[in-house]
Amino acid sequence: MTYPDTQLFINGAWLDAGDGRTLAVLNPATGQEIGRVAHAGKAELDQALHAAQKGFETWRDMSPAERSKIMRRAAGLMRERADDISQVLTQEQGKPLIEAKGEAMAAADLIEWFAEEGFRVYGRIVPSRTSLAMRQMVLKDPVGPVAAFTPWNFPINQVVRKIGPALAAGCSVLVKAAEETPAAPAALIRAFADAGLPPGVLGLVYGHPAEISSYLIAHPVIRKITFTGSTPVGKQLAAMAGQHMKRCTMELGGHAPVIVAEDADVALAVKTAGGAKFRNAGQVCISPTRFLVHESLVKPFAVAMVAHAKGLNVGDGLSEGTQMGPLANARRITAMAEFTQDAVERGATLLAGGMRIGESGNFWQPTVLADVPQGARILNDEPFGPVAAIQSFNTLEEAIAEANRLPFGLAGYAFTRSLKNADLLARRVEVGMLWINMPAMPSAEMPFGGIKDSGYGSEGGPEALEAYLNVRSVAVMNV
Ligand code: NAD
Repeated sequence: MTYPDTQLFINGAWLDAGDGRTLAVLNPATGQEIGRVAHAGKAELDQALHAAQKGFETWRDMSPAERSKIMRRAAGLMRERADDISQVLTQEQGKPLIEAKGEAMAAADLIEWFAEEGFRVYGRIVPSRTSLAMRQMVLKDPVGPVAAFTPWNFPINQVVRKIGPALAAGCSVLVKAAEETPAAPAALIRAFADAGLPPGVLGLVYGHPAEISSYLIAHPVIRKITFTGSTPVGKQLAAMAGQHMKRCTMELGGHAPVIVAEDADVALAVKTAGGAKFRNAGQVCISPTRFLVHESLVKPFAVAMVAHAKGLNVGDGLSEGTQMGPLANARRITAMAEFTQDAVERGATLLAGGMRIGESGNFWQPTVLADVPQGARILNDEPFGPVAAIQSFNTLEEAIAEANRLPFGLAGYAFTRSLKNADLLARRVEVGMLWINMPAMPSAEMPFGGIKDSGYGSEGGPEALEAYLNVRSVAVMNV
């Protein structure tokens, strides 16, 4: 299937940049250029901002039922087009087709859930303490035009987690998605446009990330910022948002601990956490990254993890039977080489992988490191790749302390057969999302987000909608 070039989407129309500037898009499985993406300049950003303001005024004044109808139509189009969209997504991002299709289908589910949730933006009537003639109302209104910045690891999912709740709340959204994976987000936006979304309600731009974010965050039209990406960039953008007193949601990096307690089902832990570890080649913010295994189980756990890693079929995501694709860009290959070398130099044992595969494309062997010392970089910086680092522990308290040692607090996993342990872990592990005896199961209806340096705000559940609403008090005296 051919790969499309991507244009900017401004005021309901697909446009090239005024000066014709474009950037190359590479296929991570081959390293070859497959297309181009338009590079917006200040003139296009100004047009997009103007359109976002007008779009907001139109969308805000439509009823939840009208908005819901358009959103549900867009969800239907995503489902109808999922096969074609997954081909595009895999070519630009690398993940196996089945994962790409799952991402497009999950987007449809999420849009539908928020299309319904838009009906439930309730205010309150609060009794007055002074007079029965006074009506005190709590009103919730859309915050206004939103600037959304999204990364390349889930080109559709990261965008839909922002536009689903924002549109349901009545906001317009100007999206700057990742330049490395531009066509899949464009397909998502196209589904909304084809579903009848009024011009300006959604915009899509690409270009120089820091120039665009600093321009949009400071601009008076934009009332809310939402970003998914690394913690250092998130801190910069949140600081900028603070300077301009803009609300923001920050969905940042993680370093998920997997605590395998003394009484855990090891086979279940490996099947569940091992499967999750190598999904999307480990380039997932909630990917399990620090395997903390009770010392009595660490040997069988490592053996099973190695068997799992070695059994994975690594290849081009477009090929039948591929279970793990290439890393999304060449920077990740360099990062994996550095993480592995550093860990081994500090005394870790390399049990599987640890090498690049081939000369073309960004393929990295599924890697397992055991006895990784606490000082190793891989146990401190977010790996964002297919490397499992195993450490052992003696008491559960020790494991919890290690899990909480880092400033990150996004996802966590644990395996135990004891209710007492499960309860202790639920209370003590400092993460925004904890899954016990199961894989991560994020859904539209559950909050999704981190604590500590992993950010703030939620991208799931009713809380996601609240993030795009202003709360106001209005009192009326019946004279
Ligand atoms: P990066 O921090 O340079 O970029 C991450 C994303 O942020 C990219 O999409 C990029 O375009 C965007 N970005 C960077 N600077 C920006 C700015 N000033 N304004 C607006 N957007 C900006 O890193 P990278 O090399 O692309 O990715 C590596 C790291 O990013 C990973 O180690 C991981 O920690 C993090 N990351 C996290 C997620 C996530 O889901 N939380 C997704 C992708 C990357």
